[in-house]
Amino acid sequence: MSFALTDSAREWQARVRRFVDEDLIPWEVEAELNGGAIPKEASRSHEQAAIAMGLSRMDAPARHGGLALPILDQAAIAEQIGRVTNALGWCYPEAQSWMFEACNDDQVARYILPMMRGEKHFCYAITEADAGSDVNDIKATAVPDGDDYLIDAEKWHVTSANVADTIVLQARVKGGEADGAHALFFVDKRAPGIELVRTPAYTHTFDHHHPIYRFHGVRVPARDLIGRPGDGMAFTYAWFRRERLMIAARCCGAAGRLIEEATAFAKTRVISGQPIARYQLIQAMLADSVTELHAARLMTYEAAAAHDRGDDVKSLHARCSVAKLYASEMAWRVADRAVQIFGGRGYMRENVAERFLRELRVDRIWEGTSEVQRLIIANGLLKRGLAGTIGA
Ligand SMILES: Cc1cc2nc3c(=O)[nH]c(=O)nc-3n(C[C@H](O)[C@H](O)[C@H](O)COP(=O)(O)OP(=O)(O)OC[C@H]3O[C@@H](n4cnc5c(N)ncnc54)[C@H](O)[C@@H]3O)c2cc1C
Repeated sequence: MSFALTDSAREWQARVRRFVDEDLIPWEVEAELNGGAIPKEASRSHEQAAIAMGLSRMDAPARHGGLALPILDQAAIAEQIGRVTNALGWCYPEAQSWMFEACNDDQVARYILPMMRGEKHFCYAITEADAGSDVNDIKATAVPDGDDYLIDAEKWHVTSANVADTIVLQARVKGGEADGAHALFFVDKRAPGIELVRTPAYTHTFDHHHPIYRFHGVRVPARDLIGRPGDGMAFTYAWFRRERLMIAARCCGAAGRLIEEATAFAKTRVISGQPIARYQLIQAMLADSVTELHAARLMTYEAAAAHDRGDDVKSLHARCSVAKLYASEMAWRVADRAVQIFGGRGYMRENVAERFLRELRVDRIWEGTSEVQRLIIANGLLKRGLAGTIGA
């Protein structure tokens, strides 16, 4: 498919595909059978290779040494990263453009640039036991105390907290001039008062865990407040847009890999004297998968191109939801069909379809569930009409 893929996007696509195929995919089964872990030297070498390629600074502005790639190029990269299972593609930190807008020079120097170089690793603590789909419900508080804030919170599903040194935490300011406003903070994971409650097991087998943390009066200097109190939600929305679009791209990559693997298998698996690829019921599953992937890619690339054109932010917000909703649901259906085509082999943990079936399920939940994406799309439609939602 060639929709709007520029030469530069194609070059990135080819480069990252090589990295994924040659360096990451060969570790999938070992990771799966070892709780997600691969040898430390291998993960270090993956991180170094990804950083050397520029992946940690693809969205960073040029004035800070970033590549400031068009979003379309970044979507093409994310699509390739989506082709590998076991979160092996999460091998590099990402300095995202909103961080440079949200953070002051001191924070960019102390947090964002070291992260871009692979010297710091972040995790994000927003969700709570009673606040997931509606972030407004968070109970975490940040009480101004002289030059500091005192944070009390319990945060759930804190992805990558086991490999992070810095927690980006969202809380509501309590007291003072900004009482009630949402705010984001950098919190040092070693700060006194942070308690690891537990590390639950999840459906997928990732080396990045999703623990629950409690924060008991954790003292955070005011210099680690990101932006001003009240800015917290605005940055969260910018970050959701990006994450949703990149999830859509990764889902397209996963579906593409599944279709290729299932097709290769169907051509060689002989039943009753014929490769199953000759049977039309198998062909129908492949054809539906190709058709749905094609639609999801078009949506994802178009939403990425709309960012590069500078379309209205509200319409971008809706289009990221459209892409995430459709691509994540599509990838799940494709994985289910792939398992079916592989038959009993598709139920073995060494099989790519089995792993993707478990891994892709969460793409319909995190960064806003499919229901929440539908609400965002419907809200856009009711307020701004069809053209204001997906463009004329
Ligand atoms: C593996 C994993 C990793 C995660 N990583 C992170 C992380 O790093 N940081 C972080 O902060 N969070 C993280 N999350 C949290 C994730 O973003 C939330 O799980 C998600 O937003 C859904 O929130 P919830 O789990 O509280 O579900 P709930 O909000 O309790 O939703 C329950 C159900 O109600 C539905 N629902 C909610 N509102 C409506 C409505 N208005 N109309 C109709 N249906 C509705 C939902 O769609 C869902 O089906 C992670 C979650 C998982 C599973």
